[in-house]
Amino acid sequence: MKRVLLLATTTGYQIRSFGEAADRLGVRLVFASDRCDRLEDPWWDGAIPVRFHDLPSSVEAVVTSFRGPAADERLDGVIAVGDRPTVLAAHVAAALGLHGNPPAATEASRNKLAARRAFASAGLLTPRFEVVSISDASPHTSLPYPVVVKPLALSGSQGVIRADDDESFANAVDRVSRLLRTTDVSIEYESAHGYALIETFIPGKEYAIEGVLTHGVLQVFTIFDKPDPLDGPFFEETIYVTPSRASADTQRAIVDAIAEAIRILGLRHGPVHAECRVNDQGIYVLEVAARPIGGLCSKAIRFAGQDGTLATLEEVLLRHALGESIERYSRINRATGVMMIPIPRRGVYRGVSGVEKARRIAGVDDVIITAKPDSTLVPLPEGRSYLGFIFATGDAPVLVEEALRSAHDSLEFRIERELIVAQ
Ligand code: ADP
Repeated sequence: MKRVLLLATTTGYQIRSFGEAADRLGVRLVFASDRCDRLEDPWWDGAIPVRFHDLPSSVEAVVTSFRGPAADERLDGVIAVGDRPTVLAAHVAAALGLHGNPPAATEASRNKLAARRAFASAGLLTPRFEVVSISDASPHTSLPYPVVVKPLALSGSQGVIRADDDESFANAVDRVSRLLRTTDVSIEYESAHGYALIETFIPGKEYAIEGVLTHGVLQVFTIFDKPDPLDGPFFEETIYVTPSRASADTQRAIVDAIAEAIRILGLRHGPVHAECRVNDQGIYVLEVAARPIGGLCSKAIRFAGQDGTLATLEEVLLRHALGESIERYSRINRATGVMMIPIPRRGVYRGVSGVEKARRIAGVDDVIITAKPDSTLVPLPEGRSYLGFIFATGDAPVLVEEALRSAHDSLEFRIERELIVAQ
């Protein structure tokens, strides 16, 4: 039985989806995670404990499991789920002689400052940028407003804040600094968490690109439109719809810019998820991550093989990790989309009504509420979760977008103010 190593910081949906894909393909998944103490899921039997901030000992923990006297079987592929594991995945692949990305390329793709520097010095269209230390008591920017303040190594728009003047800039840096000092973030022991990146705000339409690299060759699975305006002050992802309604020329230019950014970073093999902004100046690559689209959103891309059999993104990526050709897979010939339901305000989540009504809307495939009743909801920029996800399919992207919006309108979330108990 072939074995694929999955490196992850989360224990959520995408892991289960890889588990189901592995069952269908008759592949054995082996996990490595920093959450081994919290794993309740049967998929996680025999998981290898690693610490993503401690590369040498984590590489050794994985390598000794698959090589040397204690190892009973070899490993055939490695996949990183989420941003943090991408660097370890590259080191493990290099150590075990598996196909993967050069470690230095994943390090650059995971650090927004390193990526900006690489893009700018290679002449790629890039916002102007500078960096401030979070211990700087009176940070200031020499960039023209509006600017965007962001952590160097978080994801999902967490801590990304637009500032339009000196006052909102000082507030934004203070807010990012406080976020980076919270236990949840500082426990990651990333030196990048000591800084915030300041960039000029790039107006324009935004797109997300999902694809895979095979020995340096980019295969684009799809371009997602993000039809909601993302103008700040915070940048909630909300709706992704594919196929893109951008002109064929714009789509070609997007793919060219992403391929160039990938070449500059040095990524070569494995999944890629990239984001860009497009305006009259051209294509601004915001980031290229060496991992697939996150969590439940992968359900918004469905594949069909040449014989018409359907496959999930996870199944296609497992085949790719095993070295199989995946050229025969292409995205199904229908419009699909997902809405990540944003958390509108801080409070205690008490429940939702209208889910059945939303599910009955034409085109809506599913509504999945992921918020846990009675938990405290934290919106962006500090939060990093959603209330849930809506999925839709249709004959045209505009119909999918409409279905997602009316499903969202049908949902009524009950969020109570938190009770502050005086000490
Ligand atoms: P993350 O990795 O957390 O998603 P990004 O750098 O991709 O962080 O930023 C998140 C979102 O913030 C982007 O998708 C975009 O909407 C917005 N954003 C980030 N940088 C800029 C910028 N320089 N100009 C305009 N919008 C930006």
